[in-house]
Amino acid sequence: MDVNRIFCIGRNYAEHIKELGNTPDEAFVLFMKPASCVVPLGESLTLPRGKGSVHHEAELVVALTGGGADIAEADALTHVSHLTLGLDLTLRDLQNALKKNGSPWELSKAFDQAAPLGEWKAYHGQDLQALEFTCRVNGALRQHGKTGDMLFSVARQIHILSQTWALRDGDILYTGTPSGVGPLLPGDRIALESADIGRFEWNCV
Ligand code: ZN
Repeated sequence: MDVNRIFCIGRNYAEHIKELGNTPDEAFVLFMKPASCVVPLGESLTLPRGKGSVHHEAELVVALTGGGADIAEADALTHVSHLTLGLDLTLRDLQNALKKNGSPWELSKAFDQAAPLGEWKAYHGQDLQALEFTCRVNGALRQHGKTGDMLFSVARQIHILSQTWALRDGDILYTGTPSGVGPLLPGDRIALESADIGRFEWNCV
């Protein structure tokens, strides 16, 4: 699949908001990564050096078949074509410094290889708010996501996005990360897994 735009939702799970010290509110936090950030399976993750900690954020990712502007929440899922799991890699120390300065997040979120993606599975209408997924580093459980805990459902995310962007074929959406984010180090092996989607692994170098 050719990725067009990568939309990412921040602060979408109550527990993760707590661990980063933010307060839950109605604000919808959105940022983007360029399509060139995608890392396919089988490629190693070369962690950026000298820029502080690189955190994993395991997320459900959905691919859209366009849909255009102003999509009603009730129709939103008819525009989902595929599902997978992905990593929203984040230079956490740098992000914290940028937040403090009120600066944009690109340097901490949109670097090369910041968007590893698993294999796409066709979406057959299963309940996207009833999925579970895990993130393990060297076999140890780091994150266990239940999409039922999302503050903004996938349908609502698509609805909100479509009020600003006419959604196009190949747009993908990282739907936010649950609690348990943490640093990756060279030599680590990171695995994302969901019974409904599959198991995907990368080596960090
Ligand atoms: Zn994220």
